[in-house]
Amino acid sequence: MEEQLQFLLKEFFGYNAFRPLQADIIKKVTTGEDVLALMPTGGGKSICFQLPALHLEGTAVVVSPLIALMKDQVGGLQANGIAAVALNSSLTEDERMEARRKCRMGEIKLLYISPEGVQAEISGLLSEMHISLIAVDEAHCISRWGHDFRPEYTQLSTLKERFPHVPIIALTATADKATRIDIIKQLRLQHPQIFVASFDRPNISLAVRRGLGKQEKISAMAKFILTGGEQSGIVYCTRRADTETVATALRAMGIKASAYHAGLAPQERDAVQEDFVNDRIEVVCATIAFGMGIDKSNVRFVIHYNMPSSIENYYQEIGRAGRDGLRSSAILFYSLGDFVTLRRFAEESRQSEINLEKLDRMQRFCETDLCRRRILLNYFGEETEYDCGNCDACLNPPERFDGSILVQKALSAILRTNERVGINLTIDILRASSRAELLQQGFHLLKTYGAGRDLSFKTWKEYIYQMLHLGYIEVDYAASHVLKVTPAGRKILFGKAPAMLTTYCETDDVRSPAKEKSAKKAKAALPDLPAIDDNSIEKTLLDELKKLRTSIARKEKMPPYIIFSDAALQDMALNKPATLEDFASIRGVGSIKLEKYGEAFMSLIREKTSEQQRDK
Ligand code: ADP
Ligand code: ZN
Repeated sequence: MEEQLQFLLKEFFGYNAFRPLQADIIKKVTTGEDVLALMPTGGGKSICFQLPALHLEGTAVVVSPLIALMKDQVGGLQANGIAAVALNSSLTEDERMEARRKCRMGEIKLLYISPEGVQAEISGLLSEMHISLIAVDEAHCISRWGHDFRPEYTQLSTLKERFPHVPIIALTATADKATRIDIIKQLRLQHPQIFVASFDRPNISLAVRRGLGKQEKISAMAKFILTGGEQSGIVYCTRRADTETVATALRAMGIKASAYHAGLAPQERDAVQEDFVNDRIEVVCATIAFGMGIDKSNVRFVIHYNMPSSIENYYQEIGRAGRDGLRSSAILFYSLGDFVTLRRFAEESRQSEINLEKLDRMQRFCETDLCRRRILLNYFGEETEYDCGNCDACLNPPERFDGSILVQKALSAILRTNERVGINLTIDILRASSRAELLQQGFHLLKTYGAGRDLSFKTWKEYIYQMLHLGYIEVDYAASHVLKVTPAGRKILFGKAPAMLTTYCETDDVRSPAKEKSAKKAKAALPDLPAIDDNSIEKTLLDELKKLRTSIARKEKMPPYIIFSDAALQDMALNKPATLEDFASIRGVGSIKLEKYGEAFMSLIREKTSEQQRDK
């Protein structure tokens, strides 16, 4: 069986090896056992039921909550020459009849259906076909504990009653215990084996930049996006208005960007989503309303323009990057202003205690100078022994210095105003600003006025954030966010303890400039395709391959990533296959795609490489 499964994996999906747990899960399902599989977004859940579906006789029934998800998966399967169909409202009457006929005749390997569809068809179509297995995707929707509870899902318990001998595989990216138990109970899984994959997504680099103003965030983002070349990405904003502002600003800088939020008409939203999926726009600036139901594999970055309200949300959102396993970036802009807003939301919410706790954990993640991935994994109950080598803390380990004098200057300024000022005014005093508000209150007469002239506003802001984090000062949220000096702060002020700060380098580069040594470590941690350098021959070739992919996609009315993933194109650019045999070994090239696209891509590769040789 092992060999047969390996063969199917290459033949239909073009992959040479299973990812961790995939093979084990597939074996269980093909031998008729129930399984619960927990894997992070992009972890490769689909293969776990698609491959058994190919191996087994009959038709696999896949329950999926969203039409967009079904469409995407069915499109991907068909492109690989697999007979798959989705029974939903987007079909015409004729198409529906034809699909049903094929299911009954056993001509379909995978039938995608909504939970309502199951309800309607359980004694109809479903009982008239030979079902090989049942896959329940996004299975956490069945649980009231989860964040996506869908009442329709609770009806799925009838599946086991009706088809007691058909194995059920439930899949989800939500791992908590209560949800797990609920899934097993409600779907009536029989002695299921539970597989929990690591939630790590090592190909997504993590970075947090703090203390940047609106304009600074936008220009840092634009710079980052423009240096990456034409790439897909998502910018998450808390406010609807910001999605519009940011999209407009990015467009003004030559980036194809659109806004997406719940205030738009459904057709407008669908149009933006379609444009994004088909690579007609590069960036979607969106509220959290965007993302569920998007399986696009070549999202290269997720930027949080504002701080998210919990680590769960953050992790789910960044998980939309890099499903193809290639290097991708998650960048978060953190500011105290955002924190204050979120704090107010949390306080006013129904479960304020829980929400405040979640926000607190999120803040600690933003403030840390330890390996961020370890903090994330730890939050999800996974212990790790090593730093990841692919986050800003690892790539740019903080250098400390004795900042006692700086801290004393700031603390003294705060105390001399009788603790009546917030962050900005404190900095203005230190830097001797002549702002009216400051002069009116006579703060220019303070002894500390101008005591910190030598440092920029941004640098001061960074050090004040560090002072907050170190507990020397605190923000009085009840009193217009003025700063108060804590007992720990007083110790520093009176020279009883040193204040060790982290050196701050002013830069508008949102990526962490990797230091030689740790950069090597990062590569070792990523067992993936080698990266392609910006100015290399391979990069030029890759760009040409992408253009070819786009033109084929337009012709076939398919999203480009369904034709070939970015990983496949990168593999081609690096290895320049010259024969069909070489081409077949490219990642993601199964026999259908080999036959359909092999010649076109190889002739482009031949043409470009000979041009380059001539130019030399
Ligand atoms: P999930 O449903 O868990 O979010 P998917 O099933 O969409 O993830 O898989 C994510 C990506 O990983 C897809 O592009 C898929 O083709 C790819 N993938 C899955 N399994 C493998 C594998 N064994 N080798 C290489 N790529 C894989
Ligand atoms: Zn790290």
